[in-house]
Amino acid sequence: MTHKILIIGGGTGGLAMALFLEKAGIPCEIYEQAPEFSNVGASYAVHPNGVHVVEQLGLSEQLSEVSHSLDNYIFKNKDGDTVYDIKDQFPDSPFLDGLIYVSRYDLIDILYQEIKRREIKINYSKKLKDLRQDDESVTAYFEDGTKATGSLLIGADGTHSKTRELIFPYEYLRYNGKWAVFGMAEEGTLGAAEQFMQQDDLISYFKDDFNFTISKHHPSRKERLSWVFIQNQERKVPKKYFDEKPADVFKDELAAKFSDFKEPIGELIRRSSTFFPTQVFSAGNLPKFSFKRVALIGDALQTTDPYSGMGATLSLEDGLYLAMMLRDHSDYKDAFYYYEFDRKETVRGIHNEAAEMENLSDEEIDQFLKKMSGEALESSYLNPPKINWEDRQ
Ligand SMILES: Cc1cc2nc3c(=O)[nH]c(=O)nc-3n(C[C@H](O)[C@H](O)[C@H](O)COP(=O)(O)OP(=O)(O)OC[C@H]3O[C@@H](n4cnc5c(N)ncnc54)[C@H](O)[C@@H]3O)c2cc1C
Repeated sequence: MTHKILIIGGGTGGLAMALFLEKAGIPCEIYEQAPEFSNVGASYAVHPNGVHVVEQLGLSEQLSEVSHSLDNYIFKNKDGDTVYDIKDQFPDSPFLDGLIYVSRYDLIDILYQEIKRREIKINYSKKLKDLRQDDESVTAYFEDGTKATGSLLIGADGTHSKTRELIFPYEYLRYNGKWAVFGMAEEGTLGAAEQFMQQDDLISYFKDDFNFTISKHHPSRKERLSWVFIQNQERKVPKKYFDEKPADVFKDELAAKFSDFKEPIGELIRRSSTFFPTQVFSAGNLPKFSFKRVALIGDALQTTDPYSGMGATLSLEDGLYLAMMLRDHSDYKDAFYYYEFDRKETVRGIHNEAAEMENLSDEEIDQFLKKMSGEALESSYLNPPKINWEDRQ
């Protein structure tokens, strides 16, 4: 069967999938709601599996030029004492072997430049509104009144996926019991918090019902320190709390939570140049990864919990794997079946394990981490087997 694949959403998942489809000789076009490619979002971890996906696109050099390689992952308490040290506990674990932190903008830019170089078409200002499918094709309808028809449609449109809403109308997005703030800070502007520029590890601080994670995300840029704050809160905080509160007031309130911390996290928050608070939503476990001619990847498929730090990695892997299945199975139903069958355990495992990390005290975190013996760490969600594009089914 000859495909023309419509990809809804030009985030990491959609761009990676388009690049792998092009490698497989399968025509596709991307439809993105934004009017242009722009610098939005803060930073995230990309696990070795995600880095491996980018390498297979021939883009590893570009990635290492704009990302920060993490030496270790350390958990600390409010006194600055190390509660847990992954390298110390699991010196041979592949988990740290290739773990990086990078800004969302830089990772997307690398993929986007490659999309342009390979002349894959991105249609901007195309916000999916509706879709119809029959035995032969699927048609996407956009808010600007235009439409596009293809053989298959891939929903890579993120957490608030319209594609998911259209194919699984009963799987509504739920408040996930937490809110988060993403921040970035510039070297040379941080006062006492400049000390965080001296460390190359990923560091998480846990206390009662919140945690704070810090890392560098770029080797040389002035704004190259990132952090994410996650607050567990059962009753949802209204959206206006995030939209209407002046950033300086919000920063002061957040910084006050760290008043009894030995390390100057409050000062880091106050002096941050990027400050991006948000409610966290989740779609839970969907019954299926696809419906007829439409499949989902990345956050559209499984909105990842910020605790897992796996959103970018999963979206890259989903894009690669689904393109690989479409390359190897001329029957799209088989391709969708194997995509779901082979990915289900990893995708759901990540979701469920991240949920376990909520509301853990220092002692419980210690137990949680110890539960993963060296061997278990290798087989757990932190280290599923890498996916190789050259493997064939
Ligand atoms: C603006 C933004 C900022 C983010 N910042 C961070 C961050 O700081 N840290 C972090 O860990 N994660 C962040 N994320 C989430 C992170 O990017 C994802 O978890 C991860 O990269 C998964 O990628 P994805 O391609 O599945 O989804 P996304 O990266 O969310 O990409 C989805 C794409 O689909 C487009 N889209 C959405 N709806 C439609 C529609 N109806 N029609 C057409 N296109 C549509 C969006 O504009 C977006 O480009 C952010 C996401 C967004 C959209």
